[in-house]
Amino acid sequence: MSRDILVSFEGVVKSFGNFIAVQKLDFEIKKGEFLAIMGSSGCGKTTTLRMLAGLEAPTKGVIRLSGKPINDLPTWSRDTPMVWQSLALFPFLNVIENVEFALKMRGVGKAERRRRAEQWLDRMQITEFADRNISQLSGGQRQRVALARSLVVEPEILLLDEPLSALDAALKVRMQSVLKNLQRETGITFVYVTHSQSEAFSMADRVVIMSRGKIEQIGTPQEIYRTPRTRFVADFLGSSNLFSGQVRSGTSGFELDTPMGPLRLAAPAASGESATLTVLDTQTHLSTTAPAGNVNFVPVKVIGEEFVGATATVYLETAQGQEIRVQKGHDELAGLPLAIGQPLYAWWNPEDGHLVRES
Ligand code: ATP
Repeated sequence: MSRDILVSFEGVVKSFGNFIAVQKLDFEIKKGEFLAIMGSSGCGKTTTLRMLAGLEAPTKGVIRLSGKPINDLPTWSRDTPMVWQSLALFPFLNVIENVEFALKMRGVGKAERRRRAEQWLDRMQITEFADRNISQLSGGQRQRVALARSLVVEPEILLLDEPLSALDAALKVRMQSVLKNLQRETGITFVYVTHSQSEAFSMADRVVIMSRGKIEQIGTPQEIYRTPRTRFVADFLGSSNLFSGQVRSGTSGFELDTPMGPLRLAAPAASGESATLTVLDTQTHLSTTAPAGNVNFVPVKVIGEEFVGATATVYLETAQGQEIRVQKGHDELAGLPLAIGQPLYAWWNPEDGHLVRES
């Protein structure tokens, strides 16, 4: 096993009775990596994390930490602390006592544990709350205490299960940068389960997308965003227009035969195969006349528009009733007639289309 691999899941299956929650996971987590695990509700994210924490035992397969199997290692003897959304801080201890707790359990002397706890309070910018009761803290302050409490033992890996989901939007964004900076500075491996695409994509080095107990794709945020591997991933991310059809070899190269007519493909594909063409909504353009040249276009009508900050999303519909989205800066849309019902053409360069298999 390569020395930069910290964790490996090898053929890991987890069943609860007859129900298979996690099916044959095979993946690795690198040392010092920030790995986010995403997927729809019930897809097995938390179960995967709990197996790594030793809170569930795999039904089959092996989980290794630094090359050693840890399947049978009890939770308390693993170096895999976990931070939850419900923070489980001890209400009968004040802030600094909470942070010192794990060190005390490990037999670290009083002066030394105070010194190390103070360092982490400082690092998390909560020194002023050292003597406060947990009940006197805001959600964000508690979150920092929980992180300090897990990090004070300087683990090799930290497991986080939706740690920011209880916070308001502004605090969430602030805590994201706290977490990312902390992870970079300490080099501790973070495994982070989240429902939020913006959290996963802004913080993680690599993202795992799961569906029904299986990994659909694992890669950098950029790879997953630009080249989703399956239709599920493209659908889940919701940032692309999807066109389903059958591949055929036309006179001018490969095409996808869709209800909207043939769409050109930039790369060869298997003729006869059912597939989905994905095109990012940021790479789909609009024009008032049918574009000329080697582009794909579909006649559409405007059905709505939404403004979010500096960009706008135009919602359109094809004659077949398929929704198409175009996302652009306000400047790029200026000058286009966008009244509801306005006929337009949605178009894109074939090179910006990406073919995925149906799944
Ligand atoms: P969510 O995003 O909703 O938290 P998740 O992806 O984290 O979901 P898990 O909590 O890992 O999903 O659960 C995966 C599946 O396993 C679910 O269908 C869940 O109902 C089932 N499951 C989890 N724990 C148990 C258990 N102890 N007994 C029976 N089934 C369980």
